[in-house]
Amino acid sequence: MIKTDILIIGAGPTGLFTVFEAGLLKLKCHLIDALPQPGGQCAELYPKKPIYDIPGFPEVLAGDLVSNLLEQIRPFKPGFTLAERAETIEKQLDGSFVVTTNKGTRHQAPVVAIAGGLGSFEPRKPTIDGIVEFEEKGVDYFVKNPEHYRDKKIIIAGGGDSALDWTIFLADVASQVTLVHRRNEFRGALDSVEKVAELTQRGKVNLLTEAEVTDLFGEQQLQAVRITKNNGDQQTLETDYFIPLFGLSPKLGPIGDWGLEIEKNAIKVDNTLDYQTNIPGIYAIGDVNTYPGKLKLILCGFHEAALMCQSAYQRINPDKKFVLKYTTVGGIQGFDGTTK
Ligand code: FAD
Repeated sequence: MIKTDILIIGAGPTGLFTVFEAGLLKLKCHLIDALPQPGGQCAELYPKKPIYDIPGFPEVLAGDLVSNLLEQIRPFKPGFTLAERAETIEKQLDGSFVVTTNKGTRHQAPVVAIAGGLGSFEPRKPTIDGIVEFEEKGVDYFVKNPEHYRDKKIIIAGGGDSALDWTIFLADVASQVTLVHRRNEFRGALDSVEKVAELTQRGKVNLLTEAEVTDLFGEQQLQAVRITKNNGDQQTLETDYFIPLFGLSPKLGPIGDWGLEIEKNAIKVDNTLDYQTNIPGIYAIGDVNTYPGKLKLILCGFHEAALMCQSAYQRINPDKKFVLKYTTVGGIQGFDGTTK
């Protein structure tokens, strides 16, 4: 059981900044995210896009904003459970909550902050008979650790940036890389398309366009796939892994069944005070919540995180009086443990 003061569901920009605000109040945080890396939409959907409305940054790439947030919270040593989806919540007799993930990891905290954004991103799965039986037995929808594929035969499917980027990266790791795409044109960056073409010419990538994987074969583990061309031609390829990268679709997911008041796929909160939900001790901040006048912007999530942490502090320390201090005022414990 992982125990913490504030359990944050969602490691997007809102969840990450919550660690900082909580840290100033000496509250420990642990984050759960369904994705294998922190950063939410910024990291997953648009890491290379500039953002112009973060106060103090005339322009910052979304990926750099995530790196900066991680650097800012590093001194508070948050815990992470990544690539696991928060599935169930149970209230305990002492008033705390136990949140269990789809992989069975259990977390306990007196306060839960849902910073789930648009929901947990679910991979779009191709419609191939029996694919579910091969999940984690040769079929992977994310590349969590490239080393996993060292000296293995892999088949990637897809035509976007993820499929192209991983084809390029894994060409130097795997023993054989095949990229299968339904069309002749790719949706990804031109630079990546050219790189894949060059790797194909050098024999480092086997590129099959106007084709798709239609059947999977294997006993306990995936052993081969059948690839069908648009003109009907078929071939069977031996492989260790099949990695379909067809993008992600956001869903509020299991949080929708936690007894929270939901309006238009978002969690209703009290915005007059502290962004608490209808269940005391459970807060919802960032894109996942709704209230009159709500704006789905990163800076709104940051503001909500700050107010939510003050309320969480009072909940966890009912007998302590809270006094607001600025981070730069003498007497406050520095983030690296020194007194500034
Ligand atoms: P998210 O970033 O959505 O992160 C939520 C995280 O929670 C996700 O990682 C998800 O996997 C996780 N999660 C959800 N449910 C679960 C669960 N059950 N278990 C585990 N994990 C879960 N905003 C701006 O302010 N300025 C901009 O310029 C801007 N440009 C944008 C451009 C694009 C293309 C897009 C798509 C959005 C843009 N936005 C912009 C909006 C901004 O990205 C969001 O407001 C912001 O990401 C919200 O942050 P968040 O942390 O609340 O949620």
